[in-house]
Amino acid sequence: MYIAIIGCGVVGAAIAYELSQVPGLKITVFDQKPPAQASTGAALGVLMGIISHKTKGKAWRMREQSIATYSEWVPKLEAVSGRKIPFNRQGILMLLTPEEISKGESQWENLAAIRAKQGWQLEVWDTAKLKQACPQLNTEQITGAVYSPCDRQLDPTTLTLALVDAAMSNGVSFKFGVEVNGFSPLSMNSEEVCQYVETSAGKISVDKVIISAGLGSTGLTAQLNQKIDIRPVLGQAIHFHVGHALGNPDFQPAITGDDVHIVPCGAGIVPATDYWVGATVEFPNTEGYSLPPDVELLESVKQQAISFCPELKNATITRTWSGLRPRPEGRPAPIIEKLPGYSNILVATGHYRNGVLLAPATAVTIREMII
Ligand SMILES: Cc1cc2nc3c(=O)[nH]c(=O)nc-3n(C[C@H](O)[C@H](O)[C@H](O)COP(=O)(O)OP(=O)(O)OC[C@H]3O[C@@H](n4cnc5c(N)ncnc54)[C@H](O)[C@@H]3O)c2cc1C
Repeated sequence: MYIAIIGCGVVGAAIAYELSQVPGLKITVFDQKPPAQASTGAALGVLMGIISHKTKGKAWRMREQSIATYSEWVPKLEAVSGRKIPFNRQGILMLLTPEEISKGESQWENLAAIRAKQGWQLEVWDTAKLKQACPQLNTEQITGAVYSPCDRQLDPTTLTLALVDAAMSNGVSFKFGVEVNGFSPLSMNSEEVCQYVETSAGKISVDKVIISAGLGSTGLTAQLNQKIDIRPVLGQAIHFHVGHALGNPDFQPAITGDDVHIVPCGAGIVPATDYWVGATVEFPNTEGYSLPPDVELLESVKQQAISFCPELKNATITRTWSGLRPRPEGRPAPIIEKLPGYSNILVATGHYRNGVLLAPATAVTIREMII
C-alpha cells in the first residue's frame, strides 16, 4: 500500500515513524520545507498530560497514551538516530497563584485522587515544601503547587529529526522542499478516491493520503471541497542565559504558572544554565489572519516569569522567537478523522497548543485507522 503523508512537523514525523513499523507499507512524506520548521520549531515541548484536567474520554486517553509512549520512544529513537533528545524526566511543577486557588484548592486534591486510581501520581504541595524543593522561586505570590512527576518536557525539533531518522531507517522516503499542491480524485459510488497527489516535483500515485500539514491543511482540504478551517494562534517565547542552574541543580522540572512556562534547556544532557520562557497566546483577526507579534504581551510573560523566579531579571536574553499554533476554528483540537466524502484521505491536524504532547497518540490512532 502506497501512503503519502503531507507535512513533516512533529505530527507527520510521528505518524511516519509509527507506520514505518507496519510491514508492507510504502510511505513517502512530503514537506515544502525541511522538517520541524513551522509550529513544531517554535514549541516549548511541555507535555502536560497527567496534570491536565481531562479525566475521561478520548482527550484523557490520548494524553495518557502519549506520556507513556514517549518513555518508550525516546530511548529507541536515540539508539536508532544517534541523537541525544533533551527529555526532562523530572516532571512538571505547576505553581498555584491566589487566583488559581480561588477556583477551588480541593479540585487538585480531587484530581490527585482520580489520577491515583488511574495509576498516576500527582502531589499537592504547600509553600513550605515548594520553598524547600525550589528555593529559586519567590513564594510571596504563590500559594502552593501541584507536582506531576510523570509529566515530561522534550525538545520538539530534536525529537522530530530523530523521528525522521528512525522512520528513514525503516524505509520511509522523505521529500523535503516539495510542496503538495493538488489531488486527482476519482468518483467511486458515493465516495471519491484520491488516486494521485500532485506535487511541485510531479504526480505520485497513492492508495492512502494523510494530511498532517498544520496550518497548510486548510488550503489542502479546501481543494478537496471539504475545507477544514485551521487558524493561526501566535506564540512568542524567550531564551534566557542564566549561566548556572536556578535553584537546586539536581531538581530541574519544567515549571508552569499562570500559563507561563519556565523550561530548563538541554534537560538530561547538559547541566541547566539556560531556560526557555513562554509563550504568549495571540489570536488572529476575524478573517483568520495572524497579527504582528504583540511586544507588550511578550513583556508581560517575561515579567510574570521574573516575578516567579526573580533571578531571571539578571539573565541575558539571547533570543526571542514566535510561531503559529494550528487551531481548528469552531471545533475542538485536534482533528483526527477520515476526510468526509473521500474513502482514502485521513486528516491529523489542528493540534493547537498540544501537538507535541499528542503526537504519539495521534500516530497510533492513524495506524489503527489504516490497518
Ligand atoms: C510558541 C509555541 C509554543 C508551543 N508549546 C507547546 C508545548 O509546550 N507543548 C505542545 O505539546 N505543543 C506546543 N505548541 C504547539 C505545537 O507546536 C503544535 O501543536 C505542533 O507543532 C503541531 O504540529 P504539526 O506537525 O501538526 O504542524 P507543523 O509543525 O506546523 O507542521 C506542518 C508542516 O506541514 C508542512 N506543510 C504545510 N502545507 C504543506 C503543503 N501543501 N505541502 C507540503 N508541506 C506542507 C509545513 O511546511 C510544516 O512543516 C507550541 C506552539 C508554539 C507556537
